[in-house]
Amino acid sequence: MSADDVIGLGYLVAAALFILGLKGLGKPRTAMRGNQLGASGMLLAVLVTLLDKEIVSYWQLALGVAIGAAIGVTLAVRVQMTSMPQLVALFNGFGGLASVLVAAASFFEAVGRGQDDLQINVAAALAAFIGAVTFTGSLIAFAKLQEVWNGLVVPGARAINAALMVASVVLGVLMVANPDQRTWFWLLVAVAGVLGITATSPIGGADMPVVIALLNSLSGLAASAAGFVLDNALLIIAGALVGASGLILTAIMTKAMNRTLLSVLFSEAPSASGSGADADEVYAGKVTSTSADEVAMLLDTADRVVIVPGYGLAVAQAQHAVRDLTLSLESRGTEVVFGIHPVAGRMPGHMNVLLAEAEIDYEALIEMDVVNPTFAQTDVVIVLGANDVVNPVARDEPDSPIAGMPILEVDKANVVVVIKRSLSPGFAGIPNPLFAADNSMMLFGDGKAAVVEIVKALTEV
Ligand code: NDP
Repeated sequence: MSADDVIGLGYLVAAALFILGLKGLGKPRTAMRGNQLGASGMLLAVLVTLLDKEIVSYWQLALGVAIGAAIGVTLAVRVQMTSMPQLVALFNGFGGLASVLVAAASFFEAVGRGQDDLQINVAAALAAFIGAVTFTGSLIAFAKLQEVWNGLVVPGARAINAALMVASVVLGVLMVANPDQRTWFWLLVAVAGVLGITATSPIGGADMPVVIALLNSLSGLAASAAGFVLDNALLIIAGALVGASGLILTAIMTKAMNRTLLSVLFSEAPSASGSGADADEVYAGKVTSTSADEVAMLLDTADRVVIVPGYGLAVAQAQHAVRDLTLSLESRGTEVVFGIHPVAGRMPGHMNVLLAEAEIDYEALIEMDVVNPTFAQTDVVIVLGANDVVNPVARDEPDSPIAGMPILEVDKANVVVVIKRSLSPGFAGIPNPLFAADNSMMLFGDGKAAVVEIVKALTEV
């Protein structure tokens, strides 16, 4: 068996492991195994690639691996769970940048050898375009999630984006037609980089989850295009898998948010800045505060309780306290379920991951469409660090920045207890009339501390 055969076989096994890994990740019970399979596939892929005769210097590779591993381990140990979405956005972005650089090196080398292969040239143009859009778009997504910068406000963004798209196509054609002139490649990268910024900047509020899923998909497509430039089957397959699964996630997110991809991508206004009624108008004199003791008394007589977790659960790391509350209520014969909104938190599946970490039964996590019709028969809803996903303006006010986004209709329950630290808004930056509703009470404080106090008070009821 030649070295090429070993490499081909190794890549085939690695690709099969990726596919089995993805399949495993589709269900919570098999997710850990799926992750292990995917990681083993990646290890095999790396080892097999080391056999490749085109590797120029093992020392340079070892140095790269050592630096990358040191950064990776430090990030994995240090990064808080709440910052995970930003980290994923950065990973996507650097994946896009890596594809641009790999495609550039391989394309220039091929041209230097006097090779003028249409497949390589077109793939390099695609890798340059998609990779650069992904890189700068992901940096903007990172900045928005980290709340350090909300992106550029560009008047007439739609027209500018259309012009940048046309310019990219023209530059791509020029690059493919004149592969020996490197300027076209770098101009294409520059224009695509600007497009990434102008296209991502106006997107905010309810639409960010869609963009994050799309950027994830684009990072895979860029890698796949780079795979064609390198003529590396595994990179093509792995990139296509990321691209396809990211697209499926994008479709799930757009459907869950009642949006179309086009409406998200071609929105003109920065919806994250918010609009509509101001906080004073919504809250003045209408907010009722409560205490842990009062909430415990309410819960003591409740037959059915729905807990709605949101981003604040992740910030407070309240998942273990919530499990204690659930056990305490169930021991009294109360039915407890969790209402899960598809974009609660800051990344797809954020709440599921946190609640699974506290070993809360997966069967108790009820999706939005299933739990919504049951709120009218629910005695107490506990909204724990959620805000936008329970904001009735999405349903009631067509001009709101989150209009049309489906919500968990907790306002239909008998009593709603909202646990959060203040009346400050959620990610979309708009006030929430739920906090001032007649059947709502605010339990102000940190999510974890508040739940611990409720559990304590329950033992004394
Ligand atoms: P929100 O961001 O709307 O609200 C979170 C609330 O948590 C805040 O109002 C905050 O209020 C409260 N909070 C923060 N820290 C604590 C704490 N320690 N204890 C208690 N409460 C706390 O969260 P939702 O989950 O309701 O909505 C998610 C939002 O994020 C949506 O707008 C969604 O579009 C967006 N998004 C989602 C992504 C995804 O993939 N899931 C990705 C990107 C964006 P206070 O400060 O008063 O405590």
